[in-house]
Amino acid sequence: MNPCPCGYYGDPNHECSCSQNQISNYLNKVSRPILDRIDIHVEVSPVKLDELTTEEKCETSKDIKKRVELARKIQKERFKKENITTNSQMTTRQIRKYCKLNDKMNLIIQMAFEKYKFSARSFDKILKIARTIADLDGQKDIEDKHLMEAIRYRTVDQKYWG
Ligand SMILES: [Zn+2]
Repeated sequence: MNPCPCGYYGDPNHECSCSQNQISNYLNKVSRPILDRIDIHVEVSPVKLDELTTEEKCETSKDIKKRVELARKIQKERFKKENITTNSQMTTRQIRKYCKLNDKMNLIIQMAFEKYKFSARSFDKILKIARTIADLDGQKDIEDKHLMEAIRYRTVDQKYWG
């Protein structure tokens, strides 16, 4: 979705022409409980033409597909004794079992909770997403960077809906 009716609210390169009221009304059309049900929130800024035409090497869709297929395989293997095949299907009990955090990561998530006032539902989602990021990274255990990336995917609504 756009951040406001004109689309430029929060954009450092363009001025937003909406009034504060228009922005609030627009954002309030999407309620917090609905946003809470969407697992991954990412803020994207407008793409400039030279960024689209750059020759810079980056991971191709084909490479990414391979990583996704491998991550799926890892998950299937992990859950072969459970009645599920993907991280997203984990119950709270399974999350505790398969998404173990060390002391440092517990502290990170605790601080994020205080700062962003996440819901209980968000907590489970963050752990599932962190598990998936670790799988895509080919790592057996969730690491700090995976957890922090997962937390970032839940902080966009905080910025706009506060
Ligand atoms: Zn605007």
